[in-house]
Amino acid sequence: MGSDGQKKDHATELIGLVSPLVLPDSKTAYPDSRFVIFGVPYDGTSSYRKGSRFTPNRIREAYDNLESFDPYYKTTYAESSICDLGNIFPSEDAEENIDTVETITSFLRKDEKIPIMIGGEHSITVGAVRTFSDSYMIIIDAHADFRAEYMGNKYNHACVTRRSLEILGRNRITSVGTRSVSKEEFESPEYSKVRFVTADYVRENGIKQVIDELKNEIHGRKIYFSIDMDGIDPAFAPGVGTPEPYGLLHTDVRELIRAFSKETVGFDIVEISPLYDNGNTVMLAAKFIQDFIGSNSIN
Ligand code: MN
Ligand code: MN
Repeated sequence: MGSDGQKKDHATELIGLVSPLVLPDSKTAYPDSRFVIFGVPYDGTSSYRKGSRFTPNRIREAYDNLESFDPYYKTTYAESSICDLGNIFPSEDAEENIDTVETITSFLRKDEKIPIMIGGEHSITVGAVRTFSDSYMIIIDAHADFRAEYMGNKYNHACVTRRSLEILGRNRITSVGTRSVSKEEFESPEYSKVRFVTADYVRENGIKQVIDELKNEIHGRKIYFSIDMDGIDPAFAPGVGTPEPYGLLHTDVRELIRAFSKETVGFDIVEISPLYDNGNTVMLAAKFIQDFIGSNSIN
């Protein structure tokens, strides 16, 4: 109380002057939203270049420099029913974060929303795959991520495809951009249960052929779409935890997003480390989010 006995409360005025960091086109309240963004600032199992815990907010800041109108889809993202919930409170334990991601995505699924999860490292994807266990999975990744366990942890980011196979079963996953596989992974009897499309195959045959083959395989099923940014060549996406040369073109990944966005029920972008970025990687991730929402929204 002030000396004049009046309660001092300028909450209404303050709300107009400051705001929490959310995606700038997050203009829709949760009940009316279609796309729901949330960040998972966790890089606890990253083995090489950490920093992905900073990525959700760096992508939001990069996104702020993009136009809200997109002439390709003739879409205005500020009117695209986007709600950004902010970031989770991360645990130090990978499995606990996976549980949190499963809880959030299952709420979103029940509420008929499309989750867009921003990592963080790749381990978190397992929680979303549990929620969308009846879907087909498309992964973009340089790495097979097919280890039974890594550094004593079966929830390490190097194991996410293997864990996803255990949830989804054989012939339910295609990983595009593969070019880093250990001998143990390669010789595992489980390896043939996932379709690994190498970056060389994409370059030699073209992304259009890869999309046609995938369409035949998926046959209209719902899709969970996970983008590990190191699938893209380091020339276009240098700021990643584990860079690997000879990767996919950024435009190849855009074509894949566009081709399958209508069937996609959940989407994530992981493994960016802003500490090693020149700004291009978070900007490309922001563009991928727009491409996903734009191509999903057009009739
Ligand atoms: Mn990965
Ligand atoms: Mn990777």
